[in-house]
Amino acid sequence: MKKFLIAGNWKMNKSIAEAKLFADQLKGERIAHPEQLAVIAPFTQLETLKRELDGTGIKVGAQNVHFEKSGAYTGEISVPMLKELDIDLCIVGHSERREYFAETDSTVNMKLKALLNAGITPILCVGESLEIRETGNAMLFVSGQITEDLDGLTPAEVEQIVIAYEPIWAIGTGKTATPDQAEEMCGFIRGMIEGMYGRETAEGMIIQYGGSMKPSNADELLKKPDINGGLIGGASLEVGTFMEIAKAA
Ligand code: 13P
Repeated sequence: MKKFLIAGNWKMNKSIAEAKLFADQLKGERIAHPEQLAVIAPFTQLETLKRELDGTGIKVGAQNVHFEKSGAYTGEISVPMLKELDIDLCIVGHSERREYFAETDSTVNMKLKALLNAGITPILCVGESLEIRETGNAMLFVSGQITEDLDGLTPAEVEQIVIAYEPIWAIGTGKTATPDQAEEMCGFIRGMIEGMYGRETAEGMIIQYGGSMKPSNADELLKKPDINGGLIGGASLEVGTFMEIAKAA
């Protein structure tokens, strides 16, 4: 059976009260596969979400983490801190963090290792800018990111990672990659993983698409063989649209 993970990335949105309301509404929905759903929220809302969604099977994730366990890193949150809240997932290398917060492939690699050691599932984001796509170098760019981000990991570790292909030109722009464009890159990523780590690892991996995914395009995207779900920004902020996308899986 094809694996799915439908994850809502709230980015820097919602209060604690709003997170609680969202969890309450979500619990009111009839959800066939709760283990395929994840809510990825700002740090301040994680404890509330873990408590409110306890026992539902729905996963809760963080949007970033530091690679050191503790120390003089003002403003940062460590893997043991996430572990204390029993957090299931953590985004690493989102393009917004790469662009605005100087995240590099080398820090992404250290964060992946720290999360894997603690048993928290990383969602590794990769994806090219419009300029790179227009010059025909999207695959070369994404393969470079993946090679550096996964450096030194074993096949068993890589299989634990979720990869989200998020073309930067499709994030928050309303401009979605066509299902064929998204499938082409997700298939390319899976092929690359197969070449590096073997067929079993590649087939077991969850590879998501992200970038203006919404109820009107989710069905076509999620039907593609190499797309195992979505990383959804704007359309994940309301339970209604989030659930419509989830039901397309
Ligand atoms: P949008 O769905 O708002 O385009 O955001 C995608 C994204 O960046 C998810 O991580």
